[in-house]
Amino acid sequence: MATFNRFGNMSPTPEINANNFLLAEKPFKIIGNIYYVGNTHASSILIDSGEGLILLDTPSWPEYAYLLDSIYTLGFNPRDIKYVVVSHSHADHYGCAQALKYMYGCKTFIGRVDAGYMQAHKEQIEEMGRSRGSVTPWPHFDVLLEDGDVIELGNVKMRCVLTPGHTVGVMSHFWETEEDGKTYKVGIYGGAGFVTVGTEAIKRNGLPMSIQQDFWDSIDKVWDEEVDVMLGNHPFHNDTFDKNERRVPGGPNPFADPTEWKRYLQELRDRYGEFLKLTPEEVAEMYRGNGFFDYRPQLLERYEEYKAKYL
Ligand SMILES: [Zn+2]
Repeated sequence: MATFNRFGNMSPTPEINANNFLLAEKPFKIIGNIYYVGNTHASSILIDSGEGLILLDTPSWPEYAYLLDSIYTLGFNPRDIKYVVVSHSHADHYGCAQALKYMYGCKTFIGRVDAGYMQAHKEQIEEMGRSRGSVTPWPHFDVLLEDGDVIELGNVKMRCVLTPGHTVGVMSHFWETEEDGKTYKVGIYGGAGFVTVGTEAIKRNGLPMSIQQDFWDSIDKVWDEEVDVMLGNHPFHNDTFDKNERRVPGGPNPFADPTEWKRYLQELRDRYGEFLKLTPEEVAEMYRGNGFFDYRPQLLERYEEYKAKYL
């Protein structure tokens, strides 16, 4: 288990936000037709459907350039992105959606519940985007997803499951991929951070307290999903970089781990239970700390080198 709390404060530090190109990571193939084109903080998953690309989540708007660079580096072209699917209404997941739609004509998707929440709480959503260092272009989604909807393109059939908690309309996604003649069930939990579900945060955001129970219910709802490959909508949720760095030629793919889904959900349950017992003061204290460099010490090294040279 991680020493940092992957559901706690995992925001990039102010020094990193001020030099956000330090978040750029080399893109890579995850498994089958699935590729990582996100950065150190936020995941962005590219799927080659054979009839166009699907992008699952986009990074924050300040990281748009590195998203495009990652897509080109892998030999793909952003012009071939047909669908941009957004897991939930936070800027570190929808930040580039409007630009991709405008530039390349991609169709954009989000859950209907979160789309409604965004319209009703525009200022609050925009404020969250500014915390990542810029004004985020407001997304105008083309398709509003319902619980159980299936997104189809080429060889991809992606099932969307409503898992509220982190936001009122988080969508989790499940589909299949193939590698070396074997079929893998892929799953991604659409949003799990605690920042929005503390009692004070719920009051501040004008949400019903029942969202705390929704958080438990959503874990139960997807507990029995069969998942061979668990992705994370932040790389620290599924140890994305560690796995990629553990690859050996000819060896098993470290992303294929049928035990991870339940281990992850159990960790989420345990940590959430601990979190709900904290007093508002303890929650505030928890968010004063930050686990970002514990999770990715390489980023701290990158920053220190940069600082020595330029700052
Ligand atoms: Zn979020």
